[in-house]
Amino acid sequence: MNSVETIIKEAQGAPAIAPQITQPKINLNPAENRILSLFKDASILDWEDWRWQMRNRIRTKEMLEKIIKLTPEEEDGVDRCKDKLTMSIPPYFASLIDPEDPKCPVRLQCVPQVGELTKSPHEMEDPCGEDKHSPVHGLVHRYPDRVLFLVSEMCAMYCRYCTRSRMVGDSSRTIKSSTYEAAYEYIRSNKKIRDVLISGGDPLMLADNVLEDIIKNIRAIPHVEFLRIGTRVPVTLPQRVTPELVSMLKRYGPIWMSIHFSHPKEITKRTKIACDLLADSGIPMGSQTVLLKGINDRPHIMRRLVHDLLKIRVRPYYIYQCDPIVGSKHFRTSVSAGINIIEKLRGHTSGYAVPTFVIDGPGGGGKVPVGPNYVISNDKGKYVLRNYAGKKYVYYDPEK
Ligand SMILES: *Cc1c(COP(=O)(O)O)cnc(C)c1O
Ligand code: SF4
Repeated sequence: MNSVETIIKEAQGAPAIAPQITQPKINLNPAENRILSLFKDASILDWEDWRWQMRNRIRTKEMLEKIIKLTPEEEDGVDRCKDKLTMSIPPYFASLIDPEDPKCPVRLQCVPQVGELTKSPHEMEDPCGEDKHSPVHGLVHRYPDRVLFLVSEMCAMYCRYCTRSRMVGDSSRTIKSSTYEAAYEYIRSNKKIRDVLISGGDPLMLADNVLEDIIKNIRAIPHVEFLRIGTRVPVTLPQRVTPELVSMLKRYGPIWMSIHFSHPKEITKRTKIACDLLADSGIPMGSQTVLLKGINDRPHIMRRLVHDLLKIRVRPYYIYQCDPIVGSKHFRTSVSAGINIIEKLRGHTSGYAVPTFVIDGPGGGGKVPVGPNYVISNDKGKYVLRNYAGKKYVYYDPEK
C-alpha cells in the first residue's frame, strides 16, 4: 500500500498497517567466511545469531592462533593477562582484525599485551572514583540530575583498556535482581533524577525480557524523563541488534543510545545495518571514543571516524582521554594529542562531526572538557578571539 492510500484509509478510520521492522539481507565477506569455516558445520544463520557469536567467542590462545599470526609478545600477553581481564572476541569482531599486522587497531584493543601487568605512576583500579560515588551497588550518582546504572558485568568483547576492568568480565557476578530492586528504590526516592544512563559492562548482553523489565521499571518512575543505553554491541556484536530488540526499545522511548566506537575500521556494512535499525526506530545515537595511542590518536584517523559516524547517523559525542587504569600506559597519549585533534576538527569540518574532548577527573571529578583556547584575551568586555584558521577578531560586550 502506498503512503497516499494509507493516509486515506487512516482518515476513514481504518487501522493503518504498522510498519514492520525486518532484518535486511546479510552476505558475509571473505574475512568473515574464513573465520566461519573454522567452526565445523556452522552456517551463515549461526553467524547471524548473536547467541552463537557469544558461545563461540575466541577465548583461548589455540583458537586465536588459527585466526591471526601471534607475535611472541602477544602470546605472552594472552598467557599472562587472562586472569586480569577475560579475553573475549566474538568471531564477527575477530574478522575485522588484520591477521598479518600486529599494529592493527582492532587487534590492539582486544588481544592482551603484557603491559597490562605493569602499574605505572598515578594509575588506579577505579580511576573515575565510581565506587565512592555509589549509593547502592550498581549505581553511580555523581551529577545531581542523572545516574549511571550498571546493569551487567558482561561485554561481548573486553577492551583491554576498560576503565571498569575492576568489575567487568565473564566471571564477575555481583549484579542481580536484588541489585536492580535497590537501584529502582534509590531512583524512586530521589526526585531530582531525570536522566538514567543504563550501562555496565554491556546492557545488551542481557536477554530482551530482562532488559525490558529494567527499562519498564525505570520508565514507571514519574520524574525520570529520559533513558540512555551505553553499549559497544553495535560495534563488537551487531547481530545482537535484532528487529525484536529494536521493536521493544521503540515501545519505551525516548531512549538514546551512546555507542563506544574507536576506529573507522569498526564501521562495517554490518554495523551500518544495526545502526540503521536503531535510527529507523527513533533511537538517537551518539558515539563515545577513548583516545588510544597507536589506534586513533592521529587527527586524520579521528576525522575519518567522525565523518563515517555521521554517515550511519551517529553523532560524535565525546572523546575521552584514556583513564589512568592500572596497566594502561601503553594505551595512553598526552592530553595535547586530544586537544590537537579538536583543533584539527573544529571549523575545518561539520560542527556535527566535532565531539567534546573530556578528561574524567581522576578520583571522581566527573567529565572536564578540555580543548583549544579560542579567546586570546578579555579586557573589560573586549574579547580578542581567534578563529579556526588563526585569524583574529574582536568582539565587544554591550555597554553597561
Ligand atoms: C559520563 C557519566 C554520566 C553522563 O554524563 P553526560 O555528560 O550527561 O553524558 C553520568 N554519570 C556518570 C557517573 C558518568 O560517568
Ligand atoms: S565495552 Fe565498555 S565496559 Fe565493556 S570492556 Fe569495553 S570499555 Fe569496558
